[in-house]
Amino acid sequence: MKKKKLIFVLLTIGLIMSFALIYDAFFPTGNFTSFRIVDKLLIWVITLIMLIYFINLDSRPQLVPSVLSLEKDNGRERDKSDISFKDVAGLEEIKEELQETIDFINNSTRYKKMGAKIPKGILFYGPPGTGKTLLAKAVAGETNSTFLYSSGSEFVEKYVGIGAKRVRTLFERAKKEAPSIIFIDEIDAIGARRNLDSNNEKDQTLNQLLVEMDGFNTNETVIVIGATNRLDLLDEALLRPGRFDRHIYVGNPNIRAREQILQVHIKNKPIDKTIDIKAIAKKTTGLSGAQLANIANEAAIIAVRNNKNRISINEFDAAIERVLAGLELKNPSILKKEKETIAIHESGHALVSKILDTDVVQKISIVPRGQALGYVLKFPDEERYLISKSELENKITCLLAGRAAEEFVFNEITTGAKDDLNKATEIAREMVCSYGMSELGTMELDEVFIRYNSDIIRVEIKKITDERYKAALKIIGENKYILLHIANTLMEREIIDSDELNRIFNIYKKPLPCADEIN
Ligand code: ATP
Repeated sequence: MKKKKLIFVLLTIGLIMSFALIYDAFFPTGNFTSFRIVDKLLIWVITLIMLIYFINLDSRPQLVPSVLSLEKDNGRERDKSDISFKDVAGLEEIKEELQETIDFINNSTRYKKMGAKIPKGILFYGPPGTGKTLLAKAVAGETNSTFLYSSGSEFVEKYVGIGAKRVRTLFERAKKEAPSIIFIDEIDAIGARRNLDSNNEKDQTLNQLLVEMDGFNTNETVIVIGATNRLDLLDEALLRPGRFDRHIYVGNPNIRAREQILQVHIKNKPIDKTIDIKAIAKKTTGLSGAQLANIANEAAIIAVRNNKNRISINEFDAAIERVLAGLELKNPSILKKEKETIAIHESGHALVSKILDTDVVQKISIVPRGQALGYVLKFPDEERYLISKSELENKITCLLAGRAAEEFVFNEITTGAKDDLNKATEIAREMVCSYGMSELGTMELDEVFIRYNSDIIRVEIKKITDERYKAALKIIGENKYILLHIANTLMEREIIDSDELNRIFNIYKKPLPCADEIN
């Protein structure tokens, strides 16, 4: 940046001088009599060179993928990471584990003298947005290594050999600029098991990656970090010792880590002193680091929109809703009959969730957001690591309660339950195939069994979802007055918060006759 400014200043002086000399040639001013023709030519030529250099400086590509930019040395500065472990909140045990690798890079000669081998490959796996890329950048930052980012999909090409060439180029560059960290995001795009989907180009690319990983010797301080959301898809050969032999799970943060991540992302923002970050961390169970970063950013944007000087809890609540449920639709044209159906559907979810005590219902809304026409905002009361069979069943019951409420009240069902059905079926499928919670036995079903017995599996899934649907209908039937009360309040106010929901439930704790008045 400094270099660019300096050239700009010199160029401006050169241009002024050049124009002054041209003007003097046509309308002599007498100011440049001491300048010989050679001096004038020199000024023009230098100005021209600076002009060309300046234009080139500006048109240099900013985002050349690492795999394509071997020949460009100017990438060096850009590929240094300025992220350190201070920027990575939580994940303490992972940072500790990586400390050894960092020490190895920083003191490579000591390790080499001892004959110790540098670990070649580390594989981060886990759900999206949990900080895998951030960790890799931090390793590069902590060791002042070149950070070469690439994504598995960059190597996937139609033409045989291109992907393999890109892998070669990437490793050549890494060796040239060692110490370096090669980070391959979505490594499953090239590293998926070869027998499942035989594809010549992909196989060649993966083979080249294996060859490169075997090929660089431990004197070259190059570490390859791969990241994937699907460890189970990767080819065994890639996971073998000497290649990606360290597998580190990066999961969604727990409450303490969520609090720390939020602290990192509000660091440079003016926050209202009354804000309780712990309470926000509690409300965001199950969210990834990326979603939390997004919430902090959204809260700041909303505060600007609301003309606030500081970000208050209201902005945070709005940001959580924005991130979880999507953008609020202004002036949606929804028919009254549809609105009634949505109110009954969402009331069904809220009623059953509260009765089965699955999650804390925070808000029910029939204001459309994103693709949802209505939604129930809820979060688990506490961090959970083990989920029992009955809890999974209750989750399915809650998901199917929207559809059940529609059927119970209108004797008709709509398309509104598409997403719920999808999620409920997925849980039931996991119960059958992964958790051994069906009549097919206490075992995990492997891919081959699933492929050849899809009918039997479907029957088991259907048994679970049918039973849960009946359970939802039963709860709704037994509590129809509460359901209608919630739905009527939603029709009136569009949004119900947890206090209002508790108030409605409390009414019906009294003897039932008052419920008749409502209908
Ligand atoms: P994907 O699997 O989708 O590639 P990822 O696991 O690589 O995702 P990152 O790209 O590292 O996720 O994280 C996205 C953003 O989320 C980061 O840039 C950062 O702002 C935020 N983030 C995630 N985890 C953390 C964390 N532990 N501390 C601070 N910020 C975090």
